[in-house]
Amino acid sequence: MPSSPHYVPFVDLHALHRGLSTELDHAWRSVLLGSTFIGGAHLERFEEDWATYCGTRHAVGVSSGTDALRLALHALGIGNGDEVIVPANTFVGTAEAVVAVGAEPRFVDVDAETLLVTAEGVESALTPRTAAVIVVHLYGQMPDMEALAAVAERAGVALLEDAAQAHGARWNGRRAGSWGRAGCFSFYPAKNLGALGDAGAVVTDDPSLAATVRSLADHGRPAGNHDRHELVGGTNRLDALQAAVLCAKLPHLGLWNDARRRAAAHYAALMAHSPARLVATHPRAESAYHLQVVRIEDRDETRRALRKLGIQTAVHYPLPLHRLPPYSRYHDRPLPMVEEAARTVVSLPLFPQISEAQIGRVVDALLRAMQHGASYV
Ligand SMILES: *Cc1c(COP(=O)(O)O)cnc(C)c1O
Repeated sequence: MPSSPHYVPFVDLHALHRGLSTELDHAWRSVLLGSTFIGGAHLERFEEDWATYCGTRHAVGVSSGTDALRLALHALGIGNGDEVIVPANTFVGTAEAVVAVGAEPRFVDVDAETLLVTAEGVESALTPRTAAVIVVHLYGQMPDMEALAAVAERAGVALLEDAAQAHGARWNGRRAGSWGRAGCFSFYPAKNLGALGDAGAVVTDDPSLAATVRSLADHGRPAGNHDRHELVGGTNRLDALQAAVLCAKLPHLGLWNDARRRAAAHYAALMAHSPARLVATHPRAESAYHLQVVRIEDRDETRRALRKLGIQTAVHYPLPLHRLPPYSRYHDRPLPMVEEAARTVVSLPLFPQISEAQIGRVVDALLRAMQHGASYV
């Protein structure tokens, strides 16, 4: 099927990298020539560029998005006996990080239209043990950050952003990652800004938080002292090779996000007169359009029909966190919107190089599948 001219992949990393091979060759060669693979100028430059891009004072490169979350929680002193509020419809890494530091996730429901966490949802889950809230910018869109920041501030708990799907997104003009005590990014290859392997970053305005994350990611060493391990840390640094790749890709991120926005607008236009229910976008949110998600009643059947027509889709996520074995023990309240989303969401092909013709084929196939019995929520 991938060789069929009608095939539309879910994500096309070949198309992304085809146009970048000279820049990437140059980046890798420059690391090899310098032969500094841990730390060094490429890492420093990426951290500076990424902080500038996000509008924060500091960025610390780390080994993955999940490690970014875990290290930020650890650096804030969150651990045993603490609760961390997390939406139940997110990638498992959000909750893994909470459990990894010894704290307990408290799963909350989300808005019916945007599928994002709300200030009311967070407020309803606060207890005297709540130490932090992790807001997830799901599918690339940020929730009402003023309202969430106000709730966190009133409760005296730390606001963290899981911005792994939201590189360059804005709420009310301000970038993802710059609203919370810390913003946590993944550069997994298929994210809006992706490394050629696993990578992540923590951004923050707080110099001492940045220094603690940096130290924890580097065996608890303080800056400039190789042998004095002051904290129990680990090996969670960002490689120089990946930093050089990310430096080469970052100048393209704005254009890639523009292309994603145009693709999403084209989907919306083609589906305007169909009963398709797209995940709603809030007027004050400038999404990074990481995923194009539509909600369909007969989701699994529709996906099978689309696959036969050469359209590759994905589901983010079919099992909410409270339905996964290691996390079901934290399920303490009804989560009807999360349940409905898990049953109905489908992610359609979306990547910066997708053509209008490809989007047209996806929508045609979806409408055909619908005529054969699938319906929209
Ligand atoms: C990708 C992702 C992560 C984890 O990132 P890794 O780099 O794979 O560890 C965390 N949260 C969300 C919402 C993600 O999409």
